Amino acid sequence: MKILIVFAHPEHQSFNGALFRTAVETLTAAGHEVKTSDLYAMGFNPASDRHNFITLKDPDYFKQQTEEMHATETYGFAEDVEDEISKLEWCELMIWQFPLWWFGLPAILKGWVDRVFAMGRTYGGGRIYDNGVFKGKRALLSLTTGGPAAAYLKGGFQGDIQAILRPIQRGMLQFLGFTVLAPQITYGPVRLEPDARAEVLAAYAERLRNIEGESPFEVGIY
Ligand SMILES: Cc1cc2nc3c(=O)[nH]c(=O)nc-3n(C[C@H](O)[C@H](O)[C@H](O)COP(=O)(O)OP(=O)(O)OC[C@H]3O[C@@H](n4cnc5c(N)ncnc54)[C@H](O)[C@@H]3O)c2cc1C
Repeated sequence: MKILIVFAHPEHQSFNGALFRTAVETLTAAGHEVKTSDLYAMGFNPASDRHNFITLKDPDYFKQQTEEMHATETYGFAEDVEDEISKLEWCELMIWQFPLWWFGLPAILKGWVDRVFAMGRTYGGGRIYDNGVFKGKRALLSLTTGGPAAAYLKGGFQGDIQAILRPIQRGMLQFLGFTVLAPQITYGPVRLEPDARAEVLAAYAERLRNIEGESPFEVGIY
């Protein structure tokens, strides 16, 4: 498989860094072709603006989706956005590795979505959800939390993790047509003993070795 791994953590020695390296090494060793977007290392600019484009249809009034449609027709995306869209189009499986920040994506990853999931090129004209541009491709969230698993149940202290992830899994990934696999959630890695953390990494590697045969996950609707 062609696999894109998007990594969004500012510290490579973090547990997220360990999960990222585990995925790259395991999938490469299994014979897959792996590309990465290490967003902090790339210095990826998450702020969506005029600089997403080489030229503008309307320089006097910036309307992002109009410019995205225009750029789609004129090959007009800026190089950093074009590179990332090309990786999306290339991959058959996309993995996002990130810590849960404020019940959502770290800003650098949310900004990557804001700039890269461009109208015209990645969705639009009725090409969404089951009819999405990326129908046939699969996506997997691998995330860590600060809180323990027991806090992330329906009615629990933090609430149902699947509801928290739905805006990402439904509103971003399925919206573009991706088939979503069950999220890989490491709850509170800082609370685990070193041996338990090593077991988490080994279990993730084992899952990834068999990822081609995995069935889709029901993310639920609103
Ligand atoms: C802005 C912000 C918002 C947040 N919002 C939320 C929220 O909404 N909900 C929530 O639950 N949490 C929240 N948190 C907490 C955050 O989700 C966790 O701190 C994060 O997920 C932990 O992952 P980490 O990779 O940073 O862990 P780290 O603290 O980097 O790692 C945990 C431990 O693993 C060790 N480790 C690293 N590599 C290995 C290895 N190879 N083998 C074994 N051990 C290793 C590290 O040394 C460390 O001791 C927030 C944090 C921030 C900064």
